[in-house]
Amino acid sequence: MSRNGDGQSARSFPPLPERLPVDVFDSHCHLDIVDTPVQEQVRSARAAGVTRIVTIGCDLPSSRFAVDAAGDFDDVYAAVAIHPNETTGVLDAVLADVERLAAHPKVRAIGETGLDYYRDWAPKEDQHRSFRAHVEIAKRTGKALVIHDRDAHDDVLAVLDEVGPPENVVFHCFSGDARMAEICAERGYVMSFAGNVTFKNAEPLREALRAAPLDLVLVETDAPFLTPLPHRGKPNASYLIPHTVRAMAEIKGVPLAELCTAIAANGERVFGPW
Ligand SMILES: [Zn+2]
Ligand SMILES: [Zn+2]
Repeated sequence: MSRNGDGQSARSFPPLPERLPVDVFDSHCHLDIVDTPVQEQVRSARAAGVTRIVTIGCDLPSSRFAVDAAGDFDDVYAAVAIHPNETTGVLDAVLADVERLAAHPKVRAIGETGLDYYRDWAPKEDQHRSFRAHVEIAKRTGKALVIHDRDAHDDVLAVLDEVGPPENVVFHCFSGDARMAEICAERGYVMSFAGNVTFKNAEPLREALRAAPLDLVLVETDAPFLTPLPHRGKPNASYLIPHTVRAMAEIKGVPLAELCTAIAANGERVFGPW
């Protein structure tokens, strides 16, 4: 990545933020692609008051990685799935492997699955078939469903209405507006906010957060992506969650400790007791 002399400093991780008053967790992280050993990510997260991390699968190798990391580290839990961008010609045998991996007790969610009309790397037909199959896996295994919804709100909601959602549905990196937040709230869907809620141009997302009931709000990094202000442009990792949570408390106008307590309780309800 280093294109000039200061490439090294541009890639360096930001300092440890002040610890949150109540421990929270990271509902969506890609431990496998953050450029730091998992052990270090877990250690720095804990130092910041981020005591649980759900690491996400996007294909079979990353889903296996997630299960292994969850086996190796007490603070790590896994989600397994085929990402919508990876669903071109997806085979039933692959989906059966996802379901087999999901049997592990530290796999707490099926994700990330859903629909991505922004990138459109996979044909819509394949995305839909895979998404529906993942919804069924979530229902059969009793695990939460972690949804990737990019420019596809209406179709994601329609598929869930049609096939019937599992008990716990999480819209990861929530990207809807206030109206979408109200629709999700009516259905009891959980909205997980990422660092982009701090970005200057994200006012519609902040309106959505204001509209989201406290008992349906989660926080995530989606690390290594979406580093919150004031470190936008630097690499992201779970220990940077406090920046996002502090911004969220201000946006919602609730005391920081109250928001942290709600996030922690919502996490245990959605992903099961840690
Ligand atoms: Zn995603
Ligand atoms: Zn992700």
